Amino acid sequence: MAVVDAIQIDETGFRGHVVRPGDPDYDVQRKIWNGSFDRYPAVIVRCAGVSDVIAAVKLGRASDLPVAVRSGGHSFPGLSVADDALMIDLSPMKGVRVDPEKRTARVQAGVLLGELDRETQAFGLAVPSGIVTHTGVAGLTLGGGIGWIMRKHGLSIDQLVSVDLVTADGEFVKASADENADLFWGVRGGGGNFGIVTEFEFRCVPLGTQVLAGPVFWPMQQSAEVLRFYRDWVAEAPDELMTIVIHRKAPPLPFVPEELHGKPVVMVICCWVGDVEEGEKFIRPLKEFGSPVADLCLPKPYLTHQAMFDPSFVPGRWYYFKSCDVAELSDEIIDITVERSLQISSPLTSFPIWQMGGAVGRVGEDETAFNGRTAGFTYNIGASTEASEGFDEEREWVRSFWSALEPWHEGVYVNFLGDEGAERVRQAYGPEKYDRLRALKQKYDPDNFFRINQNISPS
Ligand SMILES: Cc1cc2nc3c(=O)[nH]c(=O)nc-3n(C[C@H](O)[C@H](O)[C@H](O)COP(=O)(O)OP(=O)(O)OC[C@H]3O[C@@H](n4cnc5c(N)ncnc54)[C@H](O)[C@@H]3O)c2cc1C
Repeated sequence: MAVVDAIQIDETGFRGHVVRPGDPDYDVQRKIWNGSFDRYPAVIVRCAGVSDVIAAVKLGRASDLPVAVRSGGHSFPGLSVADDALMIDLSPMKGVRVDPEKRTARVQAGVLLGELDRETQAFGLAVPSGIVTHTGVAGLTLGGGIGWIMRKHGLSIDQLVSVDLVTADGEFVKASADENADLFWGVRGGGGNFGIVTEFEFRCVPLGTQVLAGPVFWPMQQSAEVLRFYRDWVAEAPDELMTIVIHRKAPPLPFVPEELHGKPVVMVICCWVGDVEEGEKFIRPLKEFGSPVADLCLPKPYLTHQAMFDPSFVPGRWYYFKSCDVAELSDEIIDITVERSLQISSPLTSFPIWQMGGAVGRVGEDETAFNGRTAGFTYNIGASTEASEGFDEEREWVRSFWSALEPWHEGVYVNFLGDEGAERVRQAYGPEKYDRLRALKQKYDPDNFFRINQNISPS
């Protein structure tokens, strides 16, 4: 294993916490969300602020170690840690400052979604983000950021005002619509390819603190009819409504009726941001379709709904995902979905089908690097086991399900990509955007210093 000595670190001016193999907290700090990755970095530098990030980049240059950047540590393919690498860990950078008058939030790179929500909700505000509270704001935003309020308020990047960023040369720059606009275009979807973002500035949207939200359950055997009904019903949905469909064995959670525990179910989970009465009226036909075995779609605090999926995606379990966008839920796609879902073996496997559209689709395709604004639905086919036992079989199930949908693949959300190679990254952006991103990479990181990511190679 490559070694970085203390003097070398000292000379860069780094003053944060340094963790090396053998240190008592080495095993804690090298761990990321996906337990299927057990990687051993040469050294972990835990940054306390921007000057540490600048120092860490200099250390990367001086040591010649490959550099992995970690914020929330939720990369599906484990791209925030690597063997024998310098791991630049931003998770100690936890500052959030909401300005309730200006309706903006300044958010440091180590902040998790739940931590951001807590601060914005103190003022009845929100920043569009994702659906699991322990995900990192940084990685999520840099890839786009899809979540419960996106159909009304857009992606996370659609409310991004500016970023502070440390380049591959260790330079501190800002990017916004008025300053380094090319870079600002690139960081809104282009991931960590252009530098380390130390702080994000978002516009907050007025939301209040309550939403009408939660799952309606049917037995999975009825999924074909439920999905056909759902597809037609949701086609008329206003932007206030966002839905996710889940197929899984019902988890033994307090909010799930006990008689369903372990039984295969299909759930349509709603989140209505707007007038509750109007929402109840719109959602009623769904609740009255067939004979749901449980209906937990009720007015509740937004913070409660944002945390709903936390118990399903516990850190440390083994996970594997493959994703694709489809234009619509055709009969063929529904039939494949039902057939494959009935084969789910692990009680932990739970995969979302995301309803896209609304405000996401009203931003011009070229305005940001994010690709896929016209997607109808996003399949995030994922499997999970407690540890290695049964993992290979679940992974095979994911791959085979994904392949069965191949004739209808339209694109893929870059944050839902696995370790699938350069051509898949190109597909995620499409050829024109990818070329534009490569030119930007050539300008900001010609040596591909930041390459442990969904990599865009310099042109
Ligand atoms: C349980 C779970 C739920 C999820 N839910 C959603 C969801 O609802 N919506 C959605 O859009 N996505 C979702 N995702 C996907 C998520 O957006 C990505 O996995 C994202 O990369 C996670 O960001 P992170 O900071 O936690 O990850 P990390 O693993 O820390 O980083 C991910 C990537 O971003 C780079 N990176 C991280 N921080 C920085 C930085 N400050 N500057 C530059 N580059 C950086 C890393 O190098 C790495 O390549 C989910 C993922 C998980 C595991």
